[in-house]
Amino acid sequence: MVAWRSIVLAGSALALLAACGPKKEAPPPEEKGFAAVDTKRIETASAGAEWLTYGGTYDEQRHSSLTAINKDNVDQLGVAWTFDLATNRGVEVTPIVVDGVMYVTSAWSVVYALDAKTGAELWEHDPDVDRAVGVNACCDVVNRGVAVYDGKIYVGVIDGRLQALDAKTGDLVWETVTVDQSKPYTITGAPRVVNGKVLIGNGGAELGVRGYLTAYDAETGDKVWRFYTVPNPAKQPDGEASDAAFEKIGNVTWGDEGAWVTDGGGGTVWDSIVYDEVNDQIIFGVGNGSPWNRTFRDPSGGDNLFLSSIVAVDVNTGEYKWHFQTTPGDNWDYTATQTIILADLPLGENGASRRVAMQAPKNGFFYVLDAATGEFISGDAYGPMTWATGLDENGRPIEVAAARYGKVPVSQLPGPLGAHNWHPMAYDPDLALAYIPAQEIPQAYAEDPRFQTKATAWNTGADFAAGVPPVATPEIAKFLRSTLKGRLIAWDPVAQAPRWSVEHDNAWNGGVLSTAGGLVFQGKLNGDFVAYDAATGDKLWSQNVKSGAGAGPGTYMIDGEQYVTIATGWGSAFALVAGYAYDNSVQSTVGKVVTFKLGATGEIPDADLPLIEKTPKAASFGTEAQIAEGVVDFSRNCAVCHGALGVSSGVLPDLRWSAITADPEAWKGVVLGGHFAVNGMVSFEEYLSENDVESIRAYVLAQAQAAASESAGQ
Ligand code: CA
Repeated sequence: MVAWRSIVLAGSALALLAACGPKKEAPPPEEKGFAAVDTKRIETASAGAEWLTYGGTYDEQRHSSLTAINKDNVDQLGVAWTFDLATNRGVEVTPIVVDGVMYVTSAWSVVYALDAKTGAELWEHDPDVDRAVGVNACCDVVNRGVAVYDGKIYVGVIDGRLQALDAKTGDLVWETVTVDQSKPYTITGAPRVVNGKVLIGNGGAELGVRGYLTAYDAETGDKVWRFYTVPNPAKQPDGEASDAAFEKIGNVTWGDEGAWVTDGGGGTVWDSIVYDEVNDQIIFGVGNGSPWNRTFRDPSGGDNLFLSSIVAVDVNTGEYKWHFQTTPGDNWDYTATQTIILADLPLGENGASRRVAMQAPKNGFFYVLDAATGEFISGDAYGPMTWATGLDENGRPIEVAAARYGKVPVSQLPGPLGAHNWHPMAYDPDLALAYIPAQEIPQAYAEDPRFQTKATAWNTGADFAAGVPPVATPEIAKFLRSTLKGRLIAWDPVAQAPRWSVEHDNAWNGGVLSTAGGLVFQGKLNGDFVAYDAATGDKLWSQNVKSGAGAGPGTYMIDGEQYVTIATGWGSAFALVAGYAYDNSVQSTVGKVVTFKLGATGEIPDADLPLIEKTPKAASFGTEAQIAEGVVDFSRNCAVCHGALGVSSGVLPDLRWSAITADPEAWKGVVLGGHFAVNGMVSFEEYLSENDVESIRAYVLAQAQAAASESAGQ
């Protein structure tokens, strides 16, 4: 018992060790100002010396006016400092830099304040999240960052709390619970603050919740308004800002039956929230339906507003202003939560300037909308797709009939991980180019023949076991790996066409930073952090950051020197589900903030994690029928965290090499007994029988045997 427990806990023990490294001396806090930020200061910032909000400025272009680092000298970039984020889980944060202090988050919503010049720690705030909520986090226990305002730091906590911290000390000023914590809500996105109001949404639509965006008073934490994205189950008013929108246009797009009535319908606002200062409105992106499969969610077949939509509301009252639905009747997890960027484009009469909102959502189309009205101006596919043939004159997708899958699997692009996911897009207003971190991750969609809502598990109505072979030979894993593609696209939003693109050798590459120095920065899945010529896509500089490089990079200036920074880390949705995409020689690594400047010669420390012995700890067993049952149960219950085909990238334990897999009693203790519930591995007793879990064990050991026999050099 003791032996196998210590093996599984090794990951968390290592994370603790990593936190205990030597700390650099910090200057006394009183020499610094502390986040005396108001709306005016953010409005007038140009993402120059500082980085004041998640997307740099309110327009969220992620374009900096700094030019000290430029095309001519970027090859002299070196490591100025690194800071250990003490986690081997996912890191997706864009650091905020204000008054010489960097505010950054790690996994489990831990916040750090650092001296932005040296990386020295000023304070750390840990919200002490109960690790059992990890099972609710579809896409790892990530956090994309904080907001700063009037001397306070705002962070959304993975368990649904919103906290305000003293910017100088990290002490808690107030906290409020923003969700029903008995439901599987999570918060991973960065809050935004406008006119004394903190805006925050949530996630959870994979499991079954009802989405909304809420504004809280920045000073007190009191709720100001809430906008639901899905009607309430009785289609009655909630007494909230969204009531009128549902009465007028939303309710009729939903039937009266289906899983949405009990499961909430989805539509979570988990990432993009932008303030349009010209029209004094909030424009936000709405996520997928819950369950994904509309046949189960709402058999009446409606458009289901405001799923997969871009919605604008009044900043002060939350009242509905306009919406544009990118994917009517979502059926595929095609969220419209991806980066929303505001810009002025020459799309008015006679080439006059027109203020627009742009988005490249998961569904593969790039949209340009009028920011004031939501009018569809133009749209086109930015990558290969098989689900639609184009957009009609109103911007509605022209669907391929087979895309509304039944029981026979349909392989489709984009898949649920999208043609573009959370990795932030950037926009260079001088070159009038949007930089999209695009990808191809196909998916076989099929209706789940056993669909019924489970309280603490994924509820998609799509069958993750569809098309999965009983024993995946290494050749099958290699073939799957070969279907993954990624590219950085410089997209001309006026012409709706690419001006250049760079092909990557894998999917799930990083967010983008654009600078007036003529540069575009992007990290890649393999840890390469690269600077490209913004006009041509020529590669000008690259350094491997020894971990995942998916987060949005930032830049800032202190004492006449420009810095470029990126938070690194391995986890996230893709690292959990798609271990087969990761290089076998790369270990799950510890997250860091890595900050560069010209002429620096620092080193990025190695993660120093022990290699896992990749051998099965028991012989394989089981009949063909048992293994066939195992692949179905594993794919439906285990794969989203421990990896499709049983292959883990190493963020969570690779069950093939685990000692627990070798011991039927220990295995049952974890899967049915909930022995590791405190780590997020809750009991599956409600959904799996003893025979089921033994079949899963037989399947995992068969997978282990297949992989081991290959590495033995067949
Ligand atoms: Ca989703």
